Parts: sequence; C-alpha cells; structure tokens
Amino acid sequence: VDSLLSIMSLEEKVGQMTQINLTVIAKGPNKWSSSFPMEIDPYKANRAIVDFKVGSVLNTINNTAQTPKAWYSTVSDIQKFAMDSSRIAIPVIYGIDAIHGATYTDGATMFPQQITTAASWNPQNAYNMANVCAYETRASSIPWNFSPVLDLGMNPRFPRQFESFGEDPLLVKVFGEQMILGYQGDNVADENKVAACMKHFVGYHATISGKDRTPAYIPDNVLKEYHIASFKAAIDAGAKTVMINSGLINGVPVHSSYKIMTEILRNELDFKGVILTDWEDINKLYDRDKVAISKKEATKIAINAGVDMSMVPYEYEEFINNLISLVNEGEVKLSRVDDAVRRILKLKFELGLFDNPTTNPEDYPEFNSKKFKDLAYKSASESITLLKNDGSILPITKPSRILVTGPNANNMRCLNGAWSYSWQGELTDRFASEYNTIYEALSNKYDSNNIKYFPGVAYKESGSYFDMHEIDIKKAVNEAKKSDYIVLCLGENSYTEKPGDINDINLHPLQIQYAKELAKTGKPIILILNMGRPRLINEIAPLMSAIVNIYLPGNFGADALADIISGDVNPSGKLPYTYPAYPNSLSTYYYKPSEVQNNAQGAYNYVGEVNNLFDFGFGLSYTDFEISNLEILKDTLSISDTISFSLDVKNIGDMDGFETIQVYSSDLYASISPDNKRLRAFKKLFLKAKESTNISFEIPVKELSFVNLENTYVLEPGDFKI
Ligand code: BGC
Repeated sequence: VDSLLSIMSLEEKVGQMTQINLTVIAKGPNKWSSSFPMEIDPYKANRAIVDFKVGSVLNTINNTAQTPKAWYSTVSDIQKFAMDSSRIAIPVIYGIDAIHGATYTDGATMFPQQITTAASWNPQNAYNMANVCAYETRASSIPWNFSPVLDLGMNPRFPRQFESFGEDPLLVKVFGEQMILGYQGDNVADENKVAACMKHFVGYHATISGKDRTPAYIPDNVLKEYHIASFKAAIDAGAKTVMINSGLINGVPVHSSYKIMTEILRNELDFKGVILTDWEDINKLYDRDKVAISKKEATKIAINAGVDMSMVPYEYEEFINNLISLVNEGEVKLSRVDDAVRRILKLKFELGLFDNPTTNPEDYPEFNSKKFKDLAYKSASESITLLKNDGSILPITKPSRILVTGPNANNMRCLNGAWSYSWQGELTDRFASEYNTIYEALSNKYDSNNIKYFPGVAYKESGSYFDMHEIDIKKAVNEAKKSDYIVLCLGENSYTEKPGDINDINLHPLQIQYAKELAKTGKPIILILNMGRPRLINEIAPLMSAIVNIYLPGNFGADALADIISGDVNPSGKLPYTYPAYPNSLSTYYYKPSEVQNNAQGAYNYVGEVNNLFDFGFGLSYTDFEISNLEILKDTLSISDTISFSLDVKNIGDMDGFETIQVYSSDLYASISPDNKRLRAFKKLFLKAKESTNISFEIPVKELSFVNLENTYVLEPGDFKI
C-alpha cells in the first residue's frame, strides 16, 4: 500500500475516495438512467475512471436485477478502464446493497429480512444468510456488500425497522457479529467472501418524528450503551467498512461530526477500515442541513471529520475538483487524504482485487442451489411467530374449506419487502414468480379444490405504496360464509427509506374495515401479519381466532407458513420488538420505571400501565414448556465474577418443539433510573414431547453495567434480579 501511495498523484488519490453510481458510466439518456440491457459507455467510463480516476462504483442500473453473467460482463468492462487504460492499474471496488440475499442478482436466494431472522432467536440463521449472500454476490463479480444493518430498531414507526435485528441491543449485537463472520469468514481474499459494511453509524432509527433522515436527539450515554455496542462487536469481529448515518443527532449531521467519526469510531472503537458516506450525504450538509455554505465547504467538513470515501454518486467532477482545491489551499491536509486512500487501497489488496478484479459466475456452481434454498426456508420456519391461538384453532390438520384473502395473500413482493430485485421491491413478482405466495403454498399443502382466493382489498398499482382499494368485499364475504376458516393476510406493501414514511402507524383503515366485515360472518379468522414494522391492529385483534406474524419472510416464507398452519412445523419465533397496542404508547421493553404509574378512580384513572398488544420476546408454540429449578451457584458477587445458574426446561405437551430461554436482569436501584429489564443471554432448545433438560448460563457480572452521565460503563453495588 505504501509503495503504491508514494507514486500516486493528488488526482489519483482523490479519485480513490470517489464512488459513483453505475448509471453515470452506462449508455443511456442521462446519468440517472441507462438503456437496458446495460452497456458501459466507453466515453463516459473513460472520463470517470481514466480521466477522473474514480475508484469505486455502486448500485445497479435502472433499479433492476441482472443475471450473474451480465454482472460479470459489467464489472469486467469497468475493470478494463481501471486496469488497462489508467496510468496506475488500481482495480475499481464495486459495492452493492445485498441485504437479505443478493438483492440485484436475478436468480439469487432471497432469505427472510433481518427483522424476521432476529425473530428466530437463532444467530446461525444470520450467519447462513450472510454466508450464502457473500457467495452469490461474488458470483455476481461484486466483492463489497453494504450490509449488515446494525442500527438499533427501537422505533416501530421508522420505515427501515425491518432492516434491523429489532429493538434489543444484545440481539442486534449477537446477530450482527454472525453476519460479519458469514460475509467475511477468516479471510476476505477468499473468493466466496465479501467485505461487509456495517451501517448506519450511528443512531439512525432514533428520529423524533419516526421518519427517515429526520433529527434524532440522543445523549452520549444512551448512544454508547444502546446504539454503539453492536458496532463495537462487529469491529472486534473484523468488519472492514462502515457507512455513516444519513441523519442528524442533536442538530449535527453525522457526516459532519468529527466527534462521531474520528473521536468515537476511530479513536475509541479503534476502527481501522474504510468510512463511507451514505447516498449524496456530503452535498446534503449544504443543500439539506445548511451547515455548510457551499458543496465545497461541505466536502471540507466531511473529509476533515473522517470520511474516507464519498458515495457522491452523480456529480463526481465537482466533488473531485473541490477536494483537490481544498488540499491545494491547505484546507484539507494531504495527510488526511493519504490516511483515507491507504485504507481504501488496503481493502482492495485484502480482497485480492489487484490479482482478480472480477469473479466468474461459472466458478459458483452452488448459486441458488437447493442447499441454499433450504437454509432460507429453515430461517423462515424458525422465525414465524404465533401470537394468538384461541382454543388451539391452529394447526388445521383436517381437510377443510379455506378462504385465503387480503392484500398480502397472493404476491411475492409483500413477502420479500424492499431490497428485493429492486430498491423498493416493486419488481419482485416478476423475478420471483417461481416461488409460492401464501395462496399458492396453502393450495399445495391442502387439497387445492378446498382453497379459495379473493383479495377483498389490494394495494393500488400506482401512487403511494400504501394506497389501497376495494375489490368486491361483498363477494369475498360471501365466499367466507361458505368456508370453514378464513386466512386473512394483512400488512404492508414493500417500501424502504423515505417512500416508507408514514403519518399513522395504525394498519390501513380499509384493511381494518375488511377484517371487521369478515369477522361478522362468525367464521374463525387466522390473521397473517406480513409487514416491515408492527402496524397497529388493536381494534381487530380480539376478533381474530389466531394471529401469526410472518414479518418479511422471503421467497420461502409462504411454504414455511403453510407448514406451520398445517402443523408440519411447530412455530418457534419470538418477537424481536415490542408490538404496541396504541399509537401514543410506543416504548421498548427496556422502558424506565416511570412508564408505570399507580392510577386511581375517576379522573385519576389515567393511563398508567404499559399496555402493549404483545411483549418483546413473546411467541407461542403448539406445545407447552415448563421452567423450574432455577439454581444460582452463588448470589453475592463482585464485578470480576461470573453469574452461574441453571434451570430445567420440560416440553410438557404432545408435540416436539423449540423453546427459547430468555434471561433478563433488572438493576433494582441505580443512580440513573434503571431499565425495567434487559436481555442478557438466550438459548434456543429443541425438546421432543415430554423431554426435559437442564441448561446453564454464565454471565459475567460486568455485563450488568450501564453507561452513566460521565459516559463511562459502571456497575453500582446493590441488588439485581435475574
Ligand atoms: C441507503 C443505504 C444504502 C445506499 C446505497 C442509501 O439511500 O440509506 O442504506 O446502502 O443508499 O444504495
């Protein structure tokens, strides 16, 4: 790296710090769109890569997936400019968002989204997803993946909650580590592996309004204890790159924050990899956030604060010229540029790109293999969460007439969510037509003559993703009257980022109305929730006989659901977030004691209780488990000790099944009002009917500490409850 750096001009260095969108160098009408099928435009590519020496390209063209072969040819063409036509042969590093499978690759194995994976409470599923995704991303000639999302998904209104592992810092940390290991393995030079990109550092979801890229206010101690812990673990696991939060914390855009990028990420957390901006975020310091008076000043602020590479992604000439001038004027030190470029070159060397700038799909025989599909199915089947099952109405084991209905009953788009073959997921039904929708999976499972489908309500084809219209509700209700069961599939259409912002967290009124109409038939309703965040269903929940949350379970989610409805699989998912009942009662399970107040009669009978619809960690099974004999080895401990305890778990029902033992601690009194409780450990066990086992846990006492107002982890003496 150093010898290469020593012969590079300032222009070549600044080019390495620049990332552009693929459309910028593709044939087509303008820089935002290209002709299809995609072809690299030699004039544009020469200008960007040879003249301006751009070192990185991202994204797909026209927002659509391409075959591995097309990717191979695209990336090979780009590398020719970088390797054959440039003064110094430095390969381009191609980056992509492949967040639950290789998003932009036609034929890729699409796993459940991260939120769904977290609901499995089995971190192996996160590893499998990343391992397969790394392989299929490399099969598409791409070595760098903008995943995993290590954001704390503590905000049910936020449009990207589904991209996270949910609200709990421990789950996010443990599942995140497994993603890093799955993507990178021991050695990213392995051509089955990719460089991971942790995102979005840090505090991205905690916005006050619940909307994407709007202000968050987060005290330092909260940032450290709840939001940073998962990134720290991923850095320790070797994460190569990081993407910065596109929003603002305490009025400061994170892309301008020396404190967050240099003091915390570099100095405290000792992160040695590449710091990448999010989309156009340097310019946003000027045109959105108004902390810089020009794009040039924005560049100065961001690079001096610690950015190594700018996802420009369109006006690259401007970024490059501004940064070169800033260095020449002494506003950005050459040593800062060298520091950034050194990290970028090191990454390119570590990935083996100088020797092999592309990877050929022919060397990836397992692409979309049965083995990979089975892993995606397994993850879905372990994640689906049974929330209500009145009178053990599920499983449906006898031949029955079933009406399958609702806007989510018969499409693949809703099962996969966004980042599926296209950014917002709107092309999924075209690319994933070979997989089963809920209606198709149930028709395969049961005698298809007994399975009827009427949508009742549907998402509109154009306009906002959430607009809905009625499709002959009367007819659907008549059909319901002739059925033994109604499988009602409600939820959300696919979305992410700003297009997913909502003003109302309640489920769409038309869906609520439809559920009420169906309930009037008196037929038992199995409500299937297929959504990226917990939209409120309080009004209709009591009318449902069973409620099953499938989140965004991917291409095999409907098969897994059909296996659960029929009883071939015993459900074992548990909520990775709190499911609220009311729009003004949104709190995580680790709320402060003041959320609970004593209430009294009459006017003093205020809302003083925590009133979720379903709690974090909740999920039913078709069998029952009994926990007994909790035994602690020693209950007076010092900070260097380990808490050791054991307990018996017994499957007391008639069906084999999984149970997740969740260990929570509560600090009874502390100098900062303590959390209600915090998850400290968990284990998912499989027990045959009537089988029992004894399991033990070891938790270092220091893990019960919290961050105080001096921003230091402390553990104060006192009583704790496990
Ligand atoms: C998103 C990132 C993503 C990037 C590149 C941004 O809009 O916030 O998560 O990695 O685009 O596609």
